[in-house]
Amino acid sequence: MTRMECRLAGWYNKNARKLPWRETSDPYLIWVSEIILQQTRVAQGLPFYYNFITKFPTVKILAEAPEDAVLKIWQGLGYYSRARNMMKAAKIIVEKYDGKFPDSIDELKKISGIGNYTAAAVGSFAFNIRIPAIDGNVRRVASRLYGLHEPIGTQASDEKISELLFQEMQPCPPALFNQAMMEIGATVCTPANPACESCPFETVCVARANNLQKLLPVKTSKKTAKEVRLDYIFLQSNSCTWLQKRPADSIWKGLYEFPNMEGSLTKNATNPFFDWFKHPEETEIMEPVTLKHQLTHQTIFATLWQFTCKEANIVEEKLKDKIKVKISEIDEFPVHRLMLKFLEKVR
Ligand code: SF4
Repeated sequence: MTRMECRLAGWYNKNARKLPWRETSDPYLIWVSEIILQQTRVAQGLPFYYNFITKFPTVKILAEAPEDAVLKIWQGLGYYSRARNMMKAAKIIVEKYDGKFPDSIDELKKISGIGNYTAAAVGSFAFNIRIPAIDGNVRRVASRLYGLHEPIGTQASDEKISELLFQEMQPCPPALFNQAMMEIGATVCTPANPACESCPFETVCVARANNLQKLLPVKTSKKTAKEVRLDYIFLQSNSCTWLQKRPADSIWKGLYEFPNMEGSLTKNATNPFFDWFKHPEETEIMEPVTLKHQLTHQTIFATLWQFTCKEANIVEEKLKDKIKVKISEIDEFPVHRLMLKFLEKVR
């Protein structure tokens, strides 16, 4: 395959979406966009990106921000450990690198939460380092382009793709090559119906020539998600309710939520919170809300039980370690996506 730079450059300049992080070589802004785009698609990610860089316009400001403020901006994106890693990374960049992103792949990878892909993306976009950035989209394009039949996503497969793309990118500006590969993956070489007739690789692609688009890429089989049942309690008393903060060793650590307990996976769940009240008969019970919430490794069947009563009717022990808040002020706390879904339902 030769003279690919003309094909990719021409195609990219004509077809690429104009995105704010493509108009800058500021490594901080590029890094923020890359971490957000690991969570969500471009259209959904844009408002998060603007909110994030408005609130935390520099790595120094992010390094000094309180965790709750960062989690609040991240709210709704999921994978909150990424937001926490960004805070750690920001502190390292300020303390160890004088507030400047290092301009070497090896140094970038020493920073919390920056792996092969992010280092290559920041390195190539901000510092023009010649290294392929390999994410899920690029794996799919490469697997089809070169007709690779081994499962993608393994270290061996990534190394092979990296070698092939490294050769491929030689005649191209590194940033343009990586951006173009990502753009082809996101907009042309899509999982189900690749638009080969619009692809700059159309005449050289192995999958296109051999009609293998539906067979490639080969994926490793995924583990099935574990099923979990959670019962949440929304206590309302005199315009107030109670929240708790997730412990440090759990998913959603540091985020706030209604008090809850794990239950058994039965079809007809009964109210598990009767013992929270001294006089259950003096408690107003509303219709529970049940939701299914999918995480990567867990399917959560969650029920929100809603009660209104006098505070004096609640067993004091149950409110230990809980935070009393005005219902109108819940939005000031960073909460996870399942909580957001509950709040939408009860409002
Ligand atoms: S020609 Fe088709 S299968 Fe090949 S890389 Fe382009 S869109 Fe993907």
